[in-house]
Amino acid sequence: MAAHKVVCWDCGAEVDDPFVNTCPKCGGLLTVKMDLEKVKEMKPEDLRKAPIGVWRYAPFMPVDPAHKVSIQEGGTPLYSTQALGEAIGCKNTFVKFEGLNPTGSFKDRGMTMGVSHAKELGATVVGCASTGNTSASLAAYAAKAGMKCAVFLPSGKVAMGKLAQALFFGAKVLSIDGNFDDALALARKMADERKLYLLNSINPYRPEGQKSVLFEIIDQLCYDVPDRIILPVGNAANIWAVYKACMELKEVGWIDKVPMLTGIQAAGSAPVARAFAAKNKTFEPEPNPETVATAIRIGNPVSGRKALHAMYSTGGYCTTVTDEEIISAQLLLGRKEGVCVEPASAASVAGLRKLIETGVADKDERVVCICTGNGLKDPDTIINNCAPPIKCGNSVADVERILSQ
Ligand SMILES: *Cc1c(COP(=O)(O)O)cnc(C)c1O
Ligand SMILES: [Zn+2]
Repeated sequence: MAAHKVVCWDCGAEVDDPFVNTCPKCGGLLTVKMDLEKVKEMKPEDLRKAPIGVWRYAPFMPVDPAHKVSIQEGGTPLYSTQALGEAIGCKNTFVKFEGLNPTGSFKDRGMTMGVSHAKELGATVVGCASTGNTSASLAAYAAKAGMKCAVFLPSGKVAMGKLAQALFFGAKVLSIDGNFDDALALARKMADERKLYLLNSINPYRPEGQKSVLFEIIDQLCYDVPDRIILPVGNAANIWAVYKACMELKEVGWIDKVPMLTGIQAAGSAPVARAFAAKNKTFEPEPNPETVATAIRIGNPVSGRKALHAMYSTGGYCTTVTDEEIISAQLLLGRKEGVCVEPASAASVAGLRKLIETGVADKDERVVCICTGNGLKDPDTIINNCAPPIKCGNSVADVERILSQ
């Protein structure tokens, strides 16, 4: 663990109370400021003695590994996806498949850090609002830590696999009459009254764990930094975490180039992309977000301003893709690479395709698409978009006839 402090991202004030989620002085967003002096004396190879995964990068993390609550998160594959790359016109494409985390999404990276910190603080009740994956992840880590867990879900719009996980791990699953933004408002109220320790990504310890996806990508590419990294953007913490990790690697002198961080939103849920198009530093919330990609169906992204900063200051980009483009990219990943991701995750690949088509990205760039979650989280969407099973008679001739079609 490195020395660190929690500071306000907006006014710089230091924040001592570990239970507040916004700056007591200005209401701004919090962030963790790491002291990396000790890491500057290390080399990347020094970390390779530990197995790949979130805790390999403990020297960049603000939680003591002695309090670690872990289900071996991170260490996900980075695929070189040539066939996919050829299909979308960008040969040097890689996919970081976060769907192979313990609960099937990148949220486990933040949750191992957040729940370990909760344990450090002596919290016994944790909670979050969620479009699905955050609750699945928190429920699992709370179970592992022996904590009580409450999750606030928007009624009706949560993918089946995610709901099943939260129930399975024994969380109190509360169905809130409203969308994600309403569910988060209630969870925050509970946290403000100290009824639970909040583990949404407004909690600055979550992005600290999520930084590990960038550390791994760079590690897996042997410190040959890619030109661009593309992520789906919902509540916008993940792209912020990736940005923060880039800055920290640069600070310790392990990289000298930073990838163009590129965020992709769904067309029906695009407050950050709209702000980017207008070159604004702040965004207007979208009151009625709508998309098949439920994990990024968020109208008022908590870390939206941080995400805009990440994209502007790395020469990155932000744009939207339609639900049709998302589903088409999801199927392409399956059919070309044998990789099954959920719709939100396919937004990164759909986004790359669009950037190539519109000339924003060059076909010779080395690009990493982060595919954030597993396709099995949302089997309904897959079944709705694939041809149904073929009725077949019980004979070799019947099968042959079908195979020859
Ligand atoms: C949470 C989530 C996202 C969005 O990440 P943010 O940090 O909220 O931008 C994207 N895809 C999946 C699968 C997720 O679970
Ligand atoms: Zn402040």
